[in-house]
Amino acid sequence: MSSPDISSVSKASSSHVSPSNGSASELLEWGPALAAATHDAWTRVQDVIPEVEWPVHAPYVEAIRRWKERRNAVILAHNYQTPEIFHGVADLTGDSLALARLAAETDADVIVLCGVHFMAETAKLLNPEKTVLIPDARAGCSLADSITAADIRLLRERYPGVPVVTYVNTSAEVKAESDVCCTSSNAVQVVESLGVDRVLCLPDEYLAKWVATQTDVEIIAWKGHCEVHERFTPQELRDYRERFDDLVIIAHPECPPEVLDEADFVGSTSAMANYVGERTPRNVVMVTECSMSDNVAALHPEVNFVRPCNLCPHMKRITLPKILESLIRLDGAVEVDEAVAVRARRAVERMLDVPVSSKPSVGALVS
Ligand code: SF4
Repeated sequence: MSSPDISSVSKASSSHVSPSNGSASELLEWGPALAAATHDAWTRVQDVIPEVEWPVHAPYVEAIRRWKERRNAVILAHNYQTPEIFHGVADLTGDSLALARLAAETDADVIVLCGVHFMAETAKLLNPEKTVLIPDARAGCSLADSITAADIRLLRERYPGVPVVTYVNTSAEVKAESDVCCTSSNAVQVVESLGVDRVLCLPDEYLAKWVATQTDVEIIAWKGHCEVHERFTPQELRDYRERFDDLVIIAHPECPPEVLDEADFVGSTSAMANYVGERTPRNVVMVTECSMSDNVAALHPEVNFVRPCNLCPHMKRITLPKILESLIRLDGAVEVDEAVAVRARRAVERMLDVPVSSKPSVGALVS
């Protein structure tokens, strides 16, 4: 497919650039040169972004690419970012675990984390000497907000000697009180790597309950929930099944247990994407944040994605204009107090040291 029609959309593009926006002078007018420069990105998103929108995104895509070079910056984007970010400007993409590993390996001077605040903090923990930017510092997470460092200290008093495994969706202060971190990709491996009978698995109650179904280790959970995944209901999934005979339901373990019971496969966002890539089901519903389906659909036009649209309002705070501003002004630099960082880093590094295995926490078929 060629680039979007230039004459019909140039007005929309230029009117989007506000003179009060500090990045306005960095933006090229939509036209043949800009269409050619961004054609590679357009070909990746053309099935999931309306044609009329591309001339609005393209000036930012091109400007961000130029500023990345000037800053020797790398852009890391979570699977829940919108397609114009995920396929348009990101250098590295993935779930929380993948982003943590990639952040640890980059030799860029500046890391722009297109995700939420705890992800940028994790990148900073692993790269204390680098500049780590989050384009909107208000991008939080209901799970990270559900528990404090003081809560962990109280739990340790109540369960003396029981190791604390915390999801990476937590603040640096909470990580600092923990023995080791985990993500939905490696939670079972991390729990079992401790070689004990009982662990505190915090703060996501539903992830903890799902881990408990995958291991003999006794799991003590907390009451934190993801505000996006807890909204799914078993009834809506049953309704989808009625409408599509051969529907495959793949769900994220942050969903409530009764929702996971309706799924054919449970796994992290990366495991879900791999599942679609390897099995290419005719009809699939990804029971997770809405943009994930767009990003995977862009790679698999042969698969029909049924899309319940539960958006994460925190992830959606990150936009192309904010990424550009962040790169130009070096705004939103994340800092972690060094006394906290030393202990939090240890918990993250212990997680990264747990070998990747084929155990089912990477993704499990539901029988
Ligand atoms: S989707 Fe849920 S867990 Fe992920 S950042 Fe948003 S609120 Fe947090």
